[in-house]
Amino acid sequence: MIIAANFKTNHTRESTKEYIEKLNRYVSDLNSDDTVLVFPPSTALETFDLNDKISIGVQNAYATEKGSFTGEIGLEQIEEFGIKTILIGHSERRHVLGESQDEVVKKYDFYKSKGFKIVYCIGEPKEVREEGIESVIAYNFAQLEGIDISYENLIVAYEPVWAIGTGLTASNEQIEETLGLLKQKIKAPILYGGSVKVANTKEILDIKNCEGILVGTASWDVDAFCEMIGEARKIGRYL
Ligand code: PEP
Repeated sequence: MIIAANFKTNHTRESTKEYIEKLNRYVSDLNSDDTVLVFPPSTALETFDLNDKISIGVQNAYATEKGSFTGEIGLEQIEEFGIKTILIGHSERRHVLGESQDEVVKKYDFYKSKGFKIVYCIGEPKEVREEGIESVIAYNFAQLEGIDISYENLIVAYEPVWAIGTGLTASNEQIEETLGLLKQKIKAPILYGGSVKVANTKEILDIKNCEGILVGTASWDVDAFCEMIGEARKIGRYL
């Protein structure tokens, strides 16, 4: 399984350091084979000395080695920390910050060419979900347009927009049906994301075709995130 934490615009450099140290101790003691990914804000990146099951990634980056892109970071800034993992296409970047599919594809192609592990997010808004499953699948497949889905370092995160940060989790039936249909096209591991918390981690990880979780809000508390990793360990289904 893959258990991922997205800090979004939360945690400072200091609190990230404390978080990562605690997480590292927990994962080392647990001796689990699950993969743990953490996406802190870029201001809190460091070269952490970590258990080999944990990787640090960036939440976003521009498709460039370096250059004149005010406010952005590129490959040179990321590689300084030995980071080789990136989150691309998160719904907040698409729907709040207006990132287009073309921009997402450019980032994907660039970081793919650099061999990065890419957690690529897709997910439909509420009005599409209300139209029914065919619209849901068409919308999610459109977000894969231009993306090489056979890339060996790809992980897809299915995150319905209406479930992100809202406390509303998709039902187990909705998750199972959607992942089953996505899996017909996507061979890469698929994570579910959208208001996952300690209390529903196990039932979500137990869903067929669910190969992990991408957690926002509930992951900001290190103890809660560790509990989720502990739940995955109990299932013991490794990728
Ligand atoms: C996310 O940001 O990817 C996410 C799933 O957020 P939350 O867990 O808060 O819904």
